[in-house]
Amino acid sequence: MFVSKALGLSRHASKTLEEKSILRDAFIPHPFFSDVIEALRFDRKFGEIEEGTVVAKTVNGVRVIRGFPKIRRALTLYPSIKNHFEREVAVEEKMNGYNVRIARLGKSLYAFTRRGYICPYTTEKARNLIGMDFFKDFPDLMLCCEAVGEESPFVPKRIYEIDGLDFFVFDIREARTNKPLPVKRKIELCEEYDLKHVHLLGIYSSKNAHEEISSIIRKLGKERREGVVIKDPEMKIEPLKYTTSETNAGDLSYAFRYFNDYGKDFMFSRIVREGFQSFEFAESEEEFRERCLRLGMSILKPMVESIRVVSDGEWVSEKIRLRFQSIEVMELFLKHLRKMGVDFRVKEIKKDSGGAVLHFERIMRSTTDKIRTHLEGQPW
Ligand code: ATP
Ligand code: MG
Repeated sequence: MFVSKALGLSRHASKTLEEKSILRDAFIPHPFFSDVIEALRFDRKFGEIEEGTVVAKTVNGVRVIRGFPKIRRALTLYPSIKNHFEREVAVEEKMNGYNVRIARLGKSLYAFTRRGYICPYTTEKARNLIGMDFFKDFPDLMLCCEAVGEESPFVPKRIYEIDGLDFFVFDIREARTNKPLPVKRKIELCEEYDLKHVHLLGIYSSKNAHEEISSIIRKLGKERREGVVIKDPEMKIEPLKYTTSETNAGDLSYAFRYFNDYGKDFMFSRIVREGFQSFEFAESEEEFRERCLRLGMSILKPMVESIRVVSDGEWVSEKIRLRFQSIEVMELFLKHLRKMGVDFRVKEIKKDSGGAVLHFERIMRSTTDKIRTHLEGQPW
């Protein structure tokens, strides 16, 4: 099997891989993806191999695109940072969008989402927004980017004042091994090739970074930005993330709007974070009350809104708008959503000279059904 060979797996490992049926199709064959003959993704982590890793048979041979590793969260700034890192830390803005790896296969660029799907929408954007220059010089590297903006199939956000969607590089890694470049080298290359990248907010000594970061976090929170990722400047130690209270509340509000479609862990962990942050930030009485109000609002308000929607006879859903340059790619994207098991309904397709704008609704069936049964008087 070409996957085991590309990854250098032992015969035993290769057999386990097959038995556990971890490999799934990573794409839908189509002329838009003409450089790829076959591509499989890891649906789960397998030993060292991250979930979302893709092995692709391309017109130029077999390529491995490793999955983006999980970033663990610091619940306390002190002493987590001091204990985890060495002399210094680089503090970067954590942008709120979806994780995309961009790599060159054959003649064109391909965009991989976190779970290892080659996404038609994101690939079309990547081909339009990211030049080939970087990949001409570094064909074996991948750009790990946050895709942010209002026209996002997963995380539509208005906060960054971006038309449509854009990519911000946060890591540059060797695609086959996942080895990252040091933070400064990454920034140099982004500047040299005119690639947008996340902000480096500062480099601090690990001993007192917690003080700097706690004031950065308060400021980012007021601007409704997500938080920070704290990195070893050499990228030899795994990074840690830390988010603002406003983001925790934003996530909760999203999760409670769709409360039966979301994991309970997702909600619980965000509430626990607020406890640790409130403790560590030594808040005034008034700041504490604000946090309580924000937390309570983020839980109850969206839930009541969803109940109202169902009581009016509608489905609880998320409305999404995406612009495509090519109608064919739009059709391919709709197939792709179906393949991913997304429950959706197309509302409108507006064609114009620049392509097409697709409006669709992602239906939250489980939340809708749950609310409906209770409104009809069923006990829990
Ligand atoms: P995980 O924790 O497994 O990475 P998640 O989706 O639960 O996944 P998030 O809370 O969104 O994680 O935080 C990690 C993600 O943050 C990364 O996967 C990446 O997409 C995004 N990100 C945004 N800005 C940065 C940055 N500066 N450095 C690294 N990652 C960043
Ligand atoms: Mg995220």
